[in-house]
Amino acid sequence: MFCVKCQDILNLDVLLSTFEEDEDHYDEAKRHSHHESFTALEQSAKDGCELCRMACSSLPKPWGSKSVERRIWFQLRPGDFLMFGSDFLGHRGVAEPPSDKFGIRLSADQDSPLTTLKDGVFISRPPMADASSSSAFEMARYWLKTCLSTHPRCSLKESLLPTRVLDLGDRHDTRLSLRRSTGEHGQWLTLSHCWGSSNTAITTTSNFKARCNEIQIANLPATFRDAVKITRELGYRYLWIDSLCIIQDSVSDWQMESVKMAEIYANAVLNISTDASGGADEGIFESANRGEI
Ligand SMILES: [Zn+2]
Ligand SMILES: [Zn+2]
Repeated sequence: MFCVKCQDILNLDVLLSTFEEDEDHYDEAKRHSHHESFTALEQSAKDGCELCRMACSSLPKPWGSKSVERRIWFQLRPGDFLMFGSDFLGHRGVAEPPSDKFGIRLSADQDSPLTTLKDGVFISRPPMADASSSSAFEMARYWLKTCLSTHPRCSLKESLLPTRVLDLGDRHDTRLSLRRSTGEHGQWLTLSHCWGSSNTAITTTSNFKARCNEIQIANLPATFRDAVKITRELGYRYLWIDSLCIIQDSVSDWQMESVKMAEIYANAVLNISTDASGGADEGIFESANRGEI
């Protein structure tokens, strides 16, 4: 349910009239009035308006004297940000609270007529619901290809392989192995991950030899299994993971390899960063929490 003030946001003529193309420019005249005060916004949220509820929980409450009230406004900003803000309408003698704003990122589906409405508006696409789906990988491959082939600073030649990499072999193999580099060149991906409390997967002097023969993918923690899947889906064979490619109980190996880490990450085709996961057992793929209006 949307209140009468939020209906203005759904009115494209009104919404587009507020659009500010210049990221650094704040034209107050383009702001569109929303509720006349925070109290009114709060009431509308209580009455069930979904957008007012979001605005209400994100904008700070007026403080100080009861007469301090704020006009609420909204504006469409570059990057498809529907920005809400409040103006101070307080009276003399009351310190002015900081000006506060918050934005909701709007997006439109690829085939939506909204995408051709106006230059620079509705350029954002909604996040995919399943990050491990084949269409998500198709998009990732397309992005990576565009990045490597059209951005001068991103183009990448083959570099000297790190001392050890995980050799993922054929994409259907259920096992992989630690490959010792003998000075050959190649391309690899790296993994940035939070180790968490589990360190069962580390390579040590005692399991090193066996790991050069094989590592069963099923025995790896979820985050590593997902990294293997990502590497394969993007069309690469080598993956570098610190805890597997550096012998963790060898001081000399660690000293030798840790100094190369910056270079290993810098020369990688891509770094898989596990932002959403707090440990090796949590996996990488996260379902998007997609709000719809
Ligand atoms: Zn509302
Ligand atoms: Zn690029």
